[in-house]
Amino acid sequence: MNAPLPRLQSALDQRLRAQLEQLRAADLYRQRRAITGSHGAQIEVDGQRCLNFCSNDYLGLAADPRLAQALARAAADDGVGSGASALVSGHNREHRALEDELADFLGCARALLFSSGWAVNVGVLRALLGKDDVLIADELNHASLIDGGRLSGARYQRIAHADVSAFAAALARTRAPESHALLVTDGVFSMDGDLAPLPELAALCRAQQVPLMVDDAHGFGVLGARGQGSIEQWRAQGFDLGANFAIDVHTATLGKSLGCAGAFVAGSDELIEFLIQRARSWVFSTAPPPAVAAAARAALRIVRSDEGAARRARVAANIARFRAGCRAHGIDLMASTTPIQPLVVGREAPALAISKRLFEQGFWIAAIRPPTVPKGTARLRITLTAEHSDVQVDALVEALARAWRAEVGEVK
Ligand SMILES: *Cc1c(COP(=O)(O)O)cnc(C)c1O
Repeated sequence: MNAPLPRLQSALDQRLRAQLEQLRAADLYRQRRAITGSHGAQIEVDGQRCLNFCSNDYLGLAADPRLAQALARAAADDGVGSGASALVSGHNREHRALEDELADFLGCARALLFSSGWAVNVGVLRALLGKDDVLIADELNHASLIDGGRLSGARYQRIAHADVSAFAAALARTRAPESHALLVTDGVFSMDGDLAPLPELAALCRAQQVPLMVDDAHGFGVLGARGQGSIEQWRAQGFDLGANFAIDVHTATLGKSLGCAGAFVAGSDELIEFLIQRARSWVFSTAPPPAVAAAARAALRIVRSDEGAARRARVAANIARFRAGCRAHGIDLMASTTPIQPLVVGREAPALAISKRLFEQGFWIAAIRPPTVPKGTARLRITLTAEHSDVQVDALVEALARAWRAEVGEVK
């Protein structure tokens, strides 16, 4: 046997080491913590039991035994790997059934399943836009929308967050039909928790004949009486979003409220057929495991049932309780009505210190720092789920108030 050669630090390693040191010095170094067992409100992480307040599993379905059973059954019947991309030989009956059920749930003609929300957004934007086109995008859109927009080569118009008049001005400048434009926004902003002004944006897009794309990763399943997402929530408040949803391109992940993995785009027959021809992250990628689609079908059945509605009501009650508790303690939260309830700290170091202090007391809340959020807005991204009890929410508020006082100073 050959002894391994002593490894010299390569030029690449030296450069990376220097950059890592810079990140560490700026309190921007990131690390993972390993979970033992399943995801949920109570979780074991690095050997410690704690309450998880930084999950996107809003309905508490990630560890639901019905999903696990559906997955196990489908794996027994259909195996683990899909074996190929969907166009070659990887498209399974479970995928097809899930696509049909998602389209039916959202009232769209069709849906197309991808292996992640990242892949959907990059694939869709690159397919729909080229270098002569214009992408009008909210500045706080998810990174996958930014990367997809850049990859498309379209002229990227970054619009101030949720600024309807700035969107209107950008739309007025587009010169359809010589070039195509597309307006894209998160439905729920992932780090602020606020809703995009969809009624206004939909009206503007309709007037200018510019298609509207909404990424509802954090709304799908949890918002709206039936769980259809932020669009349903707006409609329930009496806003007219036009026929169907007036959303031309609707994307969402199955990894958040549905507690699974994968993602989809929903829309017209023409949209889906076009993406089947042209979305490179779909065409050139192995289809997701059929068993994961089976689990997502089980999750969607729960989302659509009375139990789903009850879970959404629990989430809403927890949001209200948490906000009331924070208000009573003078803790100033962002104006969010969704399960994402961020507390902006500002600098990185105190955000990390509060997160660490809370973790020592058994509350897991990640500190979110640049570049995930703009500089100077490091924050604790607190999320509430259907699984949290009143007692747990109250305990979090108390611990948060203590940690804030210790690290930042008096609250108002
Ligand atoms: C999480 C997220 C995605 C990515 O979805 P994945 O399925 O996790 O890849 C896309 N858009 C938004 C707004 C998200 O929050």
